[in-house]
Amino acid sequence: MNHTIDDLQQIANTINQCQACDLHRTRKNAVPGAGPADAEIMLIGEGPGFHENEQGLPFVGASGNFLTTLLESAGYNRGDVFITNVVKCRPPSNRDPKPEELLACEAYLDKQIEIIDPLIIITLGRFSMARYFDNARISRIHGKAQWQDNRFIIPMYHPAAALHQPKLRSVIAHDFSQLDELIEKAKRTLHQPSQEDTDQATQLSFL
Ligand code: URA
Repeated sequence: MNHTIDDLQQIANTINQCQACDLHRTRKNAVPGAGPADAEIMLIGEGPGFHENEQGLPFVGASGNFLTTLLESAGYNRGDVFITNVVKCRPPSNRDPKPEELLACEAYLDKQIEIIDPLIIITLGRFSMARYFDNARISRIHGKAQWQDNRFIIPMYHPAAALHQPKLRSVIAHDFSQLDELIEKAKRTLHQPSQEDTDQATQLSFL
């Protein structure tokens, strides 16, 4: 199926009216996510904070500014990537999302990933990392791309963590600097002819 920006907008509309968990009671705006439907890179954070709740947009506060800088230093504009969160409404006082809140939002994120079908998913922080890596420690696996379901998943530190711990800044910047190379690698892997194609081509060349 050929997904379009309309499919993404439809999910955003549903999220904006969602009442599947208690977070809808305290939100000002839901934050479905932002970016192009054909983005090669998708970033998944934790949940909206104060500024995101005010504006209905992801990563627009201090961590968002830092994220923009990281993307730009790796050669990307914010507008090139799709940015979203595991929970789409702000947990009060920025507390951790509860299991039932993560569950209530899960299908929205699944659908966004299906529509965008990115070559690379970057998880920012432990809640999005947990979708792909069971019981992993970020300090051990950050920046290590893993091929899952025809794309690379790269767990990264949350930009807020790097803002609070200056020594993580160069670590996260280094992890972002690999993006171009990984995109090329993902494209090569996806376009590699299967053994079946190679056999067929060999047979044809003998005809
Ligand atoms: N932190 C997140 O995880 N997501 C946002 O959108 C903003 C801050």
